[in-house]
Amino acid sequence: MRPVGESMNPATPVEAASGQGVDAGSGAPDAVTVLGATGSIGVSTLDVVARHPERFRVHGLSGHRNVELLAEQVRRFQPARVVVEADCVDRLVQLLGAAAQRCSIDSGPAALVDLAADSAAQTVVAGIVGAAGLEPTLAAVRRGKRVLLANKEALVMAGSLFMDAVVDHGACLLPLDSEHNAIFQCLPAQYRPGDGAAAGVRKVVLTASGGPFRDTVLDDLRRVGPDQACAHPNWSMGRKISVDSATLMNKGLERIEACWLFGLPSDKVEVVVHPQSVIHSLVEYADGSMLAQLGSPDMRIPIAHALGYPARICSGAETLDLLRVGRLDFEPPDMDRFPCLALARQAFDAGGDAPAVLNAANEIAVQAFLDGRVGFMAIADIVRGVMEQWSVAAVKNLDDVLAADAHARQLGQQVTASLSGGQAG
Ligand code: NAD
Ligand code: MG
Repeated sequence: MRPVGESMNPATPVEAASGQGVDAGSGAPDAVTVLGATGSIGVSTLDVVARHPERFRVHGLSGHRNVELLAEQVRRFQPARVVVEADCVDRLVQLLGAAAQRCSIDSGPAALVDLAADSAAQTVVAGIVGAAGLEPTLAAVRRGKRVLLANKEALVMAGSLFMDAVVDHGACLLPLDSEHNAIFQCLPAQYRPGDGAAAGVRKVVLTASGGPFRDTVLDDLRRVGPDQACAHPNWSMGRKISVDSATLMNKGLERIEACWLFGLPSDKVEVVVHPQSVIHSLVEYADGSMLAQLGSPDMRIPIAHALGYPARICSGAETLDLLRVGRLDFEPPDMDRFPCLALARQAFDAGGDAPAVLNAANEIAVQAFLDGRVGFMAIADIVRGVMEQWSVAAVKNLDDVLAADAHARQLGQQVTASLSGGQAG
């Protein structure tokens, strides 16, 4: 499959527009900007980048509040530009000492958008978590860049606008989410979004590990806390996506992400629990063939695939030892214990601003859970409570999405406060 968008606007594929090739032999290294460099995705990306100095150099890094790690990364990768939260600038400058003179340090959401759109980088890794990633990721798309998408919330919130922008601006969208990267690898090379029927795709199957509470009974789920929810059995990730994995909201968001990326209706995207996280997802074809991508549960594999695409480059990940894996299990998801999966599907099928509302309510609910204000099962109750109060409206532009996001957050705080018997946080 070609990257989403590339084949839809052959006059301006991103490589041609930027004048930069993607294979090692084509000259200067690709300039890469990593948004969310200090997070789990960002750290894995920089690990892969560091293995290929002849292919990649770092142009920009953003790090929000983790200035200690960001300072280390700046020293090591020497980016031209850095973006951090306003109240962290002084500390970063102090930590960098003389090295602070060699890069420009900016702060705030506008600086993040400016960095994402900076023409000096051909490749932007969208590794910010949550809605905060939407505007910078969209800015990179609108500059026709090669965008490596981890920030699924951006696509969930603004699906049709986002995908239209990819096509209109000739961007090259490559999925980093392991399931979507797996599907991307299993689809035909010429696949374009919406080609499902023509390509003989019967359905795609997203695998889910089932998270840390796969076997936890409902009564016990009401009492689990943040540290248990963040102790994922197979993957090491940021706290928000770890909670999403525990509620299966992550798989709900990923179903929406798959629908947009591959142009499929939600009934063509099935979720199957596969506890070993060895098969990262599958495509089922009309002839009965199922193609799967397998690998160790290490995000450096999809990251290396997308960074190097179409070349295959070393990721540093351990090779899968099939004899050690031994067996692969599959089971259906339990929709009673994990209601977020159905809520996400409802939101996608409702269309318009409903997915943005789902995402905003979930972000509020997850934060309340991580802060200890509500219990684990309240996350779904909060999302459902907000969705029930919402009248779905069409989305015409980014302002509509941002307005829905802001309003849904307010509602989410109210529902949270009513459930926690306290003040909205
Ligand atoms: P993380 O919490 O480890 O890192 C998030 C990054 O975003 C950090 O660099 C942080 O500084 C930055 N950030 C946080 N809030 C911000 C804000 N308001 N403004 C600007 N920057 C901000 O998260 P992660 O696990 O790396 O996940 C990042 C994204 O990738 C998420 O959308 C997640 O769903 C997706 N993803 C992650 C994994 C994984 O293995 N971690 C796998 C697939 C998809
Ligand atoms: Mg995933």
